[in-house]
Amino acid sequence: MEKPLVVSKFGGTSMGDATAMRQSAQIAVRQKSNLVVVSATAGTTNSLIELVQLSERREVTKAEAIQDKIFSRHKKLAEELKVSQTVFGSLQLMFEEIQSLSRGIQLLRDASPRVLDTVMSLGERMSSLLFAEAWRQVLMEKSLDEVKIHWLDAREYLITDDQFGRAKPKLEVLKRRVMPIITEIHSDKAAFVTQGFIGATDEGTTTTLGRGGSDYSAALFAEALGATALEIWTDVPGIATTDPRICPGAKSISEISFTETSELATFGAKVLHPATLLPALRQDIPVFVGSTFEPDQKGTWVRHWVKDQPLIRAIATRKKQVLLTLSTPDMLQSHGFLYQIFKVFNDHKVSIDAVTTSEVSVSMTLDDSALLNKKLVHDLSQFAEVNVEDNLALVALIGNQINHTPGLAKRVFDSVDNINVRMICLGASRHNFCLLVKEEMANEIVQRLHRTFIENI
Ligand code: ASP
Ligand code: MG
Repeated sequence: MEKPLVVSKFGGTSMGDATAMRQSAQIAVRQKSNLVVVSATAGTTNSLIELVQLSERREVTKAEAIQDKIFSRHKKLAEELKVSQTVFGSLQLMFEEIQSLSRGIQLLRDASPRVLDTVMSLGERMSSLLFAEAWRQVLMEKSLDEVKIHWLDAREYLITDDQFGRAKPKLEVLKRRVMPIITEIHSDKAAFVTQGFIGATDEGTTTTLGRGGSDYSAALFAEALGATALEIWTDVPGIATTDPRICPGAKSISEISFTETSELATFGAKVLHPATLLPALRQDIPVFVGSTFEPDQKGTWVRHWVKDQPLIRAIATRKKQVLLTLSTPDMLQSHGFLYQIFKVFNDHKVSIDAVTTSEVSVSMTLDDSALLNKKLVHDLSQFAEVNVEDNLALVALIGNQINHTPGLAKRVFDSVDNINVRMICLGASRHNFCLLVKEEMANEIVQRLHRTFIENI
């Protein structure tokens, strides 16, 4: 049998305080993690962003207050974890780096994405340093300290392009650079801790992969190392059939396919960063999602193939949608209209979620933030009449054989009964049936559909 190689990622709440960090370390020991990837302590990335903004505006007192908040939180963690003098020293250097960066921003009034990435990277760098120490201690307490924990600077491994704030990783470079680590892992004498979310350009300038990007980092490391499992430890016990705040009847899913999970992630289920699944899918690495705070709960396994394939596995909502309808009589009996439309969207780098067409019009849904770009509607109105409807939400039923199941549409419409459905999308995928509705009705619809398709079966 293949030797297990486990990559575990712990999110911000799992790094939230000393108890959570020690709990995460206990899990890393129990799971025999070979590489742990961590997020910044919960809220720290936001505080660092705020620090950058205040520094740019030269609001010095407020900037200092935020800095103090960040420092005292991490100092407290270090004290509670009783870290060594060396670790304390390294942490101190990071505090100084934050101070210098803030001063630099004040002087230069430069808060470009490039500067922001360097500042944000400190969050993960501090938490990973502390976590490494927590892990060492738990190993020591269990007399397992023949395994040495090494702290890696992700910026020496995860090399990216220079799109600051949403940098694209270079997988081949990562694969080459982790080679010596694989050898050490197989010696059974070493395990590693690194930072999620951050990387660096070829020249060594710090970059980030986009908010919530730690999952993605962990998946990339898992792929590069040829991991046998990727574990995402968070603050909910797995992926749920729908948002439990909307439906108290929501249940944790024990197994789900990659395809269904990416549909869910795209529709805004916050459990996994949407890009996380790509590396796992490429290498067919099973992904576990579980709660650090309830480690004995079953959690969810995401796999390439799952035995149980229910018609409807989960229901997701994507709020803040607008429906754009473009019409022109020119479209009648002609061609190229869709091309013209999609070209405009492509030029503006706006992605469309659902589309329906008739002979003289095309309707499509977008995130409402896309309309902040006034030029988009302007460009579209050059060749079609544009009508905008807002305050909408997409409700998606996610499952299997959706477009091959007779009677499904009837059951869906029976459940939503007296609520107006503005548009439906069915057929493009076996895994998705989507309804566009008024945003204020979305929760009600989710509750009804959840009752019909998930609770009452
Ligand atoms: N710390 C980063 C963020 O808050 C990355 C992550 O947590 O995944 O966005
Ligand atoms: Mg996160």
